[in-house]
Parts: sequence; structure tokens; C-alpha cells
Amino acid sequence: MIRETLEKLSKEAAEQINEALAKENALEMLERIRVLYFGRKGKITELLKDVGKLSQAERPEAGSLVNQVKKSIEASLESAIQGAKKRKRESRLKSERLDVTLPGKSPKIGSLHPLTQIERDISAIFARFGFSVVRGPEVETDWYNFESLNIPKDHPSRDMQDTIYISNDLLLRTHTSPVQIRVMQQVKPPLRILCPGAVYRHDFDASHSPMFHQIEGLLVDEEVTFGDLKGVLGFFAREFFHESKVRFRPSFFPFTEPSAEMDIQCFICHGKGCVVCKQSGWMEILGCGMVDPSVFKHVGYDAERYQGFAFGIGIERPAMLKLGIPDIRLFFDNDVRFLRQFQ
Ligand SMILES: [Zn+2]
Repeated sequence: MIRETLEKLSKEAAEQINEALAKENALEMLERIRVLYFGRKGKITELLKDVGKLSQAERPEAGSLVNQVKKSIEASLESAIQGAKKRKRESRLKSERLDVTLPGKSPKIGSLHPLTQIERDISAIFARFGFSVVRGPEVETDWYNFESLNIPKDHPSRDMQDTIYISNDLLLRTHTSPVQIRVMQQVKPPLRILCPGAVYRHDFDASHSPMFHQIEGLLVDEEVTFGDLKGVLGFFAREFFHESKVRFRPSFFPFTEPSAEMDIQCFICHGKGCVVCKQSGWMEILGCGMVDPSVFKHVGYDAERYQGFAFGIGIERPAMLKLGIPDIRLFFDNDVRFLRQFQ
């Protein structure tokens, strides 16, 4: 009786194991078979319990029979498991094979924005004279942006048409000059600083943006003359535009006296006249002048003892001229096809 049961059982087990081996998830199936036969309520486990209930005379033979079948099923199950594991390992090695001789994908590396590059180029030239870069807040008070710079209450640049106000007293700075005031309040002369950064005005077309960039410079020392200003800015024109011919035209700024605008000879036509310089042969590059003594009074400098000169350069315009960019808005569209050209 038990002999027949065991024969049937071992045949069944062999079939199940073969079936399992053919499956994709062979290892999982084999584990199920193991539980089915040798688990706590497995078929062999139950049989062994039955053997314990037999009479003392029948027990040894039945016990040995069950143990034989148990060992045989265990052995084929074990070899099936090893086989399935090997197969799994091999297929993994095959699918995860890596051809190290294939060419790699080069990562896309970003680059500095053309305006940042130009700002750094300009700063580097003035650094050779000992100017160091200082930055300040873009949201300013009326006092720092206007009052301290000698720009009276009725000055047209204070108009809502030109200045972006946040509240009565707070505004988006219209120039980086307030940074110079903040530095002069804390540092005694001599002083050589450059203040680059974003500034804001109500303006938007192909050559104006409501947000644009400036670099302003300030030098304060004893015995500073307009000759020093001309020397430093002429050097800058030669280094940056490779153009040695410059001219100064009288101008007006509330915070400098005298004030001037510096032009360089057009570096495209070299003075002959072209579309870029509107046939004039000259390009406007920057505004400058000797610091008005009343500005020194606002920051507690002795205006009898110290003089200084200041200048302001818009960054977008020289960048457009140097890089041949026709529309200022291209700088702020963040189109990677545009930006990639300046890597
Ligand atoms: Zn020209």
C-alpha cells in the first residue's frame, strides 16, 4: 500500500520538477515544490508522521522506503535548483554584457553666459590697475539710488516712466552707483572698486531691455586728475576693443563734475563710417567724470583732500558689438542654440 503511494509520489515529483525547469520562473516554482513535499504539511512530512503510527513490526520497512523516496526527490530537486541557478546566471551575464570598446556619450557641458564672459573680461582689465569687484543689493532705497548721488527730487530719471518702484521708498536700482556709496560709507580712501550687476529701467525694444547690466568703476585718492581718468579708460579701450583712438565729449551726470562721454573710433570701419556706427566713425562706449564733491560729503569723505573719478559701462552694448549680436533680447531668451555659440 505505502509502496504504491510512494511510487506515485516520486513519479509526480519528477514530472513537476521537469515542468518547473521549463518555466521562466523556474527557481520560484522549484521552491514551491520543495514546500509541497518537505514543508511542515508537505506530502513526505505527512507520510513520515504516518509511519510513526504503524505497528512496531511494519515500521522499519515502511520507514526505510519513505526515506529512500525522500532522499531521491531531495536529490533531484537540489540538482534542478542548481541547474536553474546556473541558467539564470548565464542569461544575466549575457544580457548585461558591456562592450567597453564602444565610444562613450560625451556629457553636455554648459558654458558661461556671454554677458558673464564680457563682464569678466572687463573686470580683468581693470583688475590690472588694482580695481576689485564689489556687489550690492538690486533692491535699493531712494536715498542710495538717488539722494546720495546728488540726484534731486525733481530729476526726470526719478519719474515712474523711468524707474521701477516697489514702494514709495524702495525701488529696483537704476544703476550700480549705490554700491559705490555703500562701500565709501565703510572704507576710507584710497579706493579702487568695480561694481558690476543687473540694473532696471522702464524700457523695452531691440536695443533696450528693462533689465540690463552695468559695470561702474570708482577710484578715490589724493591728487587724482582727469588725466588719470583718460589714461585708465584709454587703456581699457585699447585692451578691450583693440582700438587706440578715443575721444571725450562733455556731458552731464548729477554725481560727477566735470562729466564726459567717451567714444572709441569704430572698430569695424576704423573711422570711415559704416552701418554699425551710423556713418559717424565713432561708437559711444561709456560715461565718466570726476566725482562731485557733494557726493563725498554724503559719505563723510574730506572733499578738500580727496578727488576721484567714476565711470559706467553698459555691458550689453559692447557685448553686442564684439559678438555681432543684433538684438538685445537674445541675451535673455535663454535659447540654448544661441547660448551654445559662445562656449
Ligand atoms: Zn563704423
